Amino acid sequence: SSLKMDCYTVLKVIGEGSYGQALLVQPRKESEKYVLKEIRLPKSQSGIQSSRNEAILLAKMKHPNIVIFRESFEADGHLYIVMEFCAGGDLMQKLKWQKGLLFPEDMILNWFTQICLGTKYIHEQRVLHRDLKSKNIFLTDKGTIKLGDFGSACILNSPEAYACTYVGTPYYVSPEIWDSKPYNNKSDVWSLGCVLYELCTLKHPFQANSWKNLILKICRGSYPPLPPHYSYELHYLIKQMFKINPKDRPSISNILTRHRVSKLIKKYL
Ligand code: ADP
Ligand code: MG
Repeated sequence: SSLKMDCYTVLKVIGEGSYGQALLVQPRKESEKYVLKEIRLPKSQSGIQSSRNEAILLAKMKHPNIVIFRESFEADGHLYIVMEFCAGGDLMQKLKWQKGLLFPEDMILNWFTQICLGTKYIHEQRVLHRDLKSKNIFLTDKGTIKLGDFGSACILNSPEAYACTYVGTPYYVSPEIWDSKPYNNKSDVWSLGCVLYELCTLKHPFQANSWKNLILKICRGSYPPLPPHYSYELHYLIKQMFKINPKDRPSISNILTRHRVSKLIKKYL
């Protein structure tokens, strides 16, 4: 085993992913808890490089609304990433616990503003997240939003951004990706539209009994209406984020500063 690994006491398993586990750990002689994400490294050199990408990109991201990176290391065919523990859990859990009780609009706008600030920073670093969804957005014990899971992220206009057409989670994947066009910053905006819709309804905007019907609904941009008590600005924003043509969608920086919703979210900036 690795020497670095011996610096941490494992407290429990908090997440199970496709590549390995997320563990709650505590460095010996420290009281703060961290998350240690264990990723099985693939056999191929290119596979190993793309796994390392997650640690490299997360380490670069320094923003109040992005999970704080502590260190990463490799041992016995695994990559380990140690990061800030978000004790509030992920937004998906939060939505489930509501048991149908809708969030007030000011809470939604507060969270959404923080999500946008984190995403704006990512985009300014010329990075695309490519897997924005409620399960990859975390809350700290103080209720601060933190974007996490950079496992699908890539640098804008890098060969990888073009290489794999399908990334992400089906519910959140934008029409252009189903149309085999390259992933761009507006594809992240689409996914955040899905997250914002979920915050308002506790449901996915696009749902169907089959893959084919799901893709059809996404590519037509047809989703059930929002509850009417939310503001016109919020309704309008969601409509814009779900424009089929990525060029018609607002950028994150546009949402924060020049969109009709900006006057409602100013107080959270
Ligand atoms: P995967 O690539 O497998 O989706 P994630 O980084 O999303 O890996 O982690 C999997 C799960 O572990 C998350 O959905 C969440 O429930 C939990 N988790 C991951 N990182 C953290 C963190 N920093 N704080 C709290 N929970 C986390
Ligand atoms: Mg994840």
